[in-house]
Amino acid sequence: MALIVQKFGGTSVANAERLFNVADIVTKTYEQGNDVVVVVSAQGDTTDDLIAKANEINTNASKREMDMLLTSGEQISASLLAMAIEKLGFPVISLLGWQAGFVTNSNHGNARIKRILPDRIQKELDKKNIVVITGFQGLNRYNDMTTLGRGGSDTSAVAIAAAMNADLCQIYTDVEGVFTADPRKIKGAKKLDVISYDEMLELASLGAQVLHNRSVEMAKKYNIELEVLSSLTRKPGTIVKEANKMEKMLISGVAKDTDVARVSVIGVPDKPGLAFKIFSKLSAKNINVDIILQSIGRSGTKDISFTVPKSDLQDALDVLEPYVEVIGASSIVYDDTVAKVSIVGAGMESHPGVAAEMFEALYEANINIRMISTSEIKISVLINTADADRAVEAIHDKFFSGEFPMK
Ligand code: ADP
Ligand code: ASP
Ligand code: MG
Repeated sequence: MALIVQKFGGTSVANAERLFNVADIVTKTYEQGNDVVVVVSAQGDTTDDLIAKANEINTNASKREMDMLLTSGEQISASLLAMAIEKLGFPVISLLGWQAGFVTNSNHGNARIKRILPDRIQKELDKKNIVVITGFQGLNRYNDMTTLGRGGSDTSAVAIAAAMNADLCQIYTDVEGVFTADPRKIKGAKKLDVISYDEMLELASLGAQVLHNRSVEMAKKYNIELEVLSSLTRKPGTIVKEANKMEKMLISGVAKDTDVARVSVIGVPDKPGLAFKIFSKLSAKNINVDIILQSIGRSGTKDISFTVPKSDLQDALDVLEPYVEVIGASSIVYDDTVAKVSIVGAGMESHPGVAAEMFEALYEANINIRMISTSEIKISVLINTADADRAVEAIHDKFFSGEFPMK
């Protein structure tokens, strides 16, 4: 007998028919003699709709009240799924995140799971119940409900799999697995059979929303193998696992992130300590800085540019604007019509020429690169938002139109 965690995203539970489809997957797994813990997202666009409702009332609502609202989406889908499973004649109970023992910190809207106290889940499994849990949420130490950030149900599922030492964690979604690019946007995108934690983490962090990046981080930390698969077609999906258990792919995917803005501090005096001062100001405000570029100093000054998530742009400007004069710089400019396009692949480490090929694809598509950043397994470029879809297509074509680049 195995313990299997199955997570179903919003599309998979969007309506009555889909709920019965999920109930069928879950009860078949149970009938094979497994303990089954199910994690659900809110139905369809419920979370977006709830945010829109909040905005009709107060665009500045406190994060605590937003969490109070947003946690309700998952309560609806969990109870409805439990009713569908009941109707099929199986023993089932639905639990809210807090009933299932999710303890988080108090960072409303983007809380981190501190621990899971799975006694209740275990008790219900011992009673032979299928356990359906609301994803995306927990309770902080003041007994207030918190949410884990958009897409956070993936992380709820992996956390339960880790806490309960599950044998398998399946993430059911609306595509057949992890692809070399978003299959809804890029026609030739290919499904990957396997991908390493590190590559998946990069792809997820660089804009491929198919998995919440923290779920991948957690899966890697606790060595939980994930399977990403479709609830609709029920074909084998993509396995996410440790790199040393697989062949290295030269490039495993292309991702796009439009949630970026570029900030430049112009005319910074060319002397030691100023980069330190600028970035420590930003880090004190918890602002996530990504690509950094410093121009070569000319006539005693230089420009320092960097990118931040769009949601942090105003904070970054608020922190730095009063500081410009103090450090003797001349001005700050920003641009929020930029996008980051990246390629990820563990094989690029040992293969020079990958960057050149990526840049060639952009050149052929007549797309200007504004910033570049690289690490061992990824290359990102910052370009104009208007060029982003074309860029992904051109780069994807370059690497994936011929033989699958397996190294
Ligand atoms: P769920 O509601 O099941 O959590 P999401 O919408 O969060 O589903 O994630 C699935 C979506 O991720 C797909 O519909 C697809 O458009 C998008 N996506 C982006 N990049 C990729 C990729 N590389 N592989 C697969 N899907 C991707
Ligand atoms: N319902 C939440 C969202 O839409 C969490 C999730 O689906 O994972 O972001
Ligand atoms: Mg998701």
